[in-house]
Amino acid sequence: MREVGHFIGGKIVAGSSGRKADIFRPATGEVQATVGLASADEVRMAIANAAEAQPKWAATNPQRRARVMMRFVDLLNQNMDELAELLAAEHGKTVPDAKGDVQRGLEVAEFAIGIPHLLKGEFTESAGPGIDMYSMRQPLGVVAGITPFNFPAMIPLWKFCPAIACGNAFILKPSERDPSVPVRLAELMLEAGLPAGILNVVQGDKVAVDTLLTDPRVMAIGFVGSSDIAQYVYATGAAHGKRVQCFGGAKNHMIVMPDADMEQAANALIGAGYGSAGERCMAVSVAVPVGEKAAEALLERLVPKVEALRVGPSDDPDADYGPLVTRAAVDRARRYVDLGVEEGASLLVDGRDFRLQGYEDGFYLGPCLFDHVKPNMAIYKDEIFGPVLSVVRAKDYAEALRLPSEHEYGNGAAIFTRDGDAARDFVANVEAGMVGVNVPIPVPLAYHTFGGWKRSGFGDLNQHGPDSVRFYTRTKTVTSRWPSGVKEGAEFSIPVME
Ligand code: NAD
Repeated sequence: MREVGHFIGGKIVAGSSGRKADIFRPATGEVQATVGLASADEVRMAIANAAEAQPKWAATNPQRRARVMMRFVDLLNQNMDELAELLAAEHGKTVPDAKGDVQRGLEVAEFAIGIPHLLKGEFTESAGPGIDMYSMRQPLGVVAGITPFNFPAMIPLWKFCPAIACGNAFILKPSERDPSVPVRLAELMLEAGLPAGILNVVQGDKVAVDTLLTDPRVMAIGFVGSSDIAQYVYATGAAHGKRVQCFGGAKNHMIVMPDADMEQAANALIGAGYGSAGERCMAVSVAVPVGEKAAEALLERLVPKVEALRVGPSDDPDADYGPLVTRAAVDRARRYVDLGVEEGASLLVDGRDFRLQGYEDGFYLGPCLFDHVKPNMAIYKDEIFGPVLSVVRAKDYAEALRLPSEHEYGNGAAIFTRDGDAARDFVANVEAGMVGVNVPIPVPLAYHTFGGWKRSGFGDLNQHGPDSVRFYTRTKTVTSRWPSGVKEGAEFSIPVME
């Protein structure tokens, strides 16, 4: 059986720890490969490799680093079909959706091409007598990224493209559930001209993560995954003196005002709630119609659309969404649906018994839609990460605004309305990091930044965009005076500008 290895020092290295995990093909349920889970020593080998290669890369001028990113973008485009098929086969999402996964990562590689401009510092001439002052951004050294299963191309690309363009060496620890695409990305970076050792991929689990979190050579950690692990990584990394940013889970609300175009809102909910089987941190999992009339008008359109959703294997061109990533993910989501029924919510569409003919062992779950969900229910409070949408009816706008604002997660939130005042108030006051106005999944483009609030984000800088350059560099500020400007004698008071 195929075994996915690490990528260290510019080549694939077979795992040697003796520990392995299965990689499934979610569409059929079969095991298609295994992946070696790194020992602490294997991770240290990758760190040593990165630490050795990094100074030369940092000394390579930014324009040359940008050219590597430029060639990498070309290679991503040339290999798009292969990457998307590999990704879909391990993750389960449909092939067009997998292309979107690569594409939204590729856009951050495009952003990183601008690194010569992005890294320019600041300069003040004659800040004092004969004194010039300037600041520059220098790479941190060796940095690491720990990424989730649900975007095996996009999130690694969000992490390593800006980090590497800034002059760092990068250790990627991708999800052990779909680890093949990250290795292909590293191979393509090498083909694009990146020196060996600047991008290493270590496959693994908690052992690998803990080694990265505690090794003093790793200067910064970027994490994306579920909130409890995000908080653990944040606390442990910070306790070991590292710069850390961690992005966690979500429960994204979409408010539907009574004046909204209900057909548009229902279509938006279908795509944002069930696309990728709901396994997106920006999926809409709660719809909040405002007022009973809006709720009835929305549900009248939503229910038949949910019932008509087509679930199929990842390579079915007509599938709206595919299988979930593992059997455990299906069981977990089903348990939540059972719980919602026990808690008293009305299950309008029940996908629990969905079976796909010819794919009986695949990890499928039919679409589920709940109405009359209340904020005290577990299906409202927890992230289910499956094709399950909850409708919470709000009596007025004030209540609708409170729901996402008081939820423990604060990743995305959207409002559908024709009322500019309501939209403006929502944008200003909702407690979430990314907001959509008539846009259900407001994922910012590469040159803006991505990040949630509350338990959706730990740390103070976002991913990609200008924040990524701030995160992966440190500022050095220089005050310089040449001998002709130096006063005679010693100064004992703190220097002040005259
Ligand atoms: P996960 O937390 O299980 O795993 C994420 C990473 O952490 C993986 O690389 C995994 O190997 C590692 N990990 C798992 N358990 C660990 C432990 N005990 N100690 C150390 N490391 C550990 O998340 P997942 O299931 O792969 O991904 C889904 C989650 O990610 C969802 O909660 C989703 O909302 C979230 N997510 C968030 C964003 C965002 O930007 N906020 C984006 C995508 C996904």
